[in-house]
Amino acid sequence: MTSARTRARMVARLREEGIRDETVLAAMNAVPRHIFVEESLASRAYENTPLPIGHGQTISQPWVVARMTELARQGKHLQNVLEIGSGSGYQTAVLALVADHVYTVERIGALVAKARRHLRELKLTNVAIKHGDGSAAMEEPLQFDAVVVTAGTSVLPEALLAHLNIGGRMVVPLATEGKSDTQRLTVIERTAGGFKEQTLDAVRFVPLLPGMA
Ligand code: SAH
Repeated sequence: MTSARTRARMVARLREEGIRDETVLAAMNAVPRHIFVEESLASRAYENTPLPIGHGQTISQPWVVARMTELARQGKHLQNVLEIGSGSGYQTAVLALVADHVYTVERIGALVAKARRHLRELKLTNVAIKHGDGSAAMEEPLQFDAVVVTAGTSVLPEALLAHLNIGGRMVVPLATEGKSDTQRLTVIERTAGGFKEQTLDAVRFVPLLPGMA
């Protein structure tokens, strides 16, 4: 149930369900999702379903991870990527295979430790994990080709837009205020003249919360 064959079937399903970017599909095929979930759930790791990762949080379903990565790439090579919400580290690992460097921020200390352990197990050395509130302004003067927010919000984390390179994009599950069931994957691209926004797939993420835990 956790074999390469099971994973290849998951990738075939992703393809059927509209994921087109071969670089993303190759990364989904390479990352063993079962090491990111509790051992008792490992046999369900390749189903297209979100699963609990402890502390009230969930690892997103594979389709959503693939879709966000595809939207972050837009068919282009990524140098630096910022992820908000490391959780189990699964989306981080997928990003680490399609980008030169991933910087990921998680507000729950226990999950930072977990994600670090998982990423070390995969020997991914191009990832930096930070314990912090990723929706707040960043102290580091870093610029990114993509910012991937893996928690839902109705308030755009505007402070992060300044950290996008021109041509770079933020992918964020954005909802109408007070209605978390209206979340849509939203892509905000930084252009030479400003920002361009696109509203796409309906999704369901745990909330982006302020502060650290
Ligand atoms: N990408 C993760 C799934 C994350 S679930 C994976 O592949 O497993 C969303 C995560 O966002 C949770 O771990 C939650 O603690 C974290 N989170 C919520 N608000 C945050 C914030 N302001 N800063 C950083 N992390 C946050």
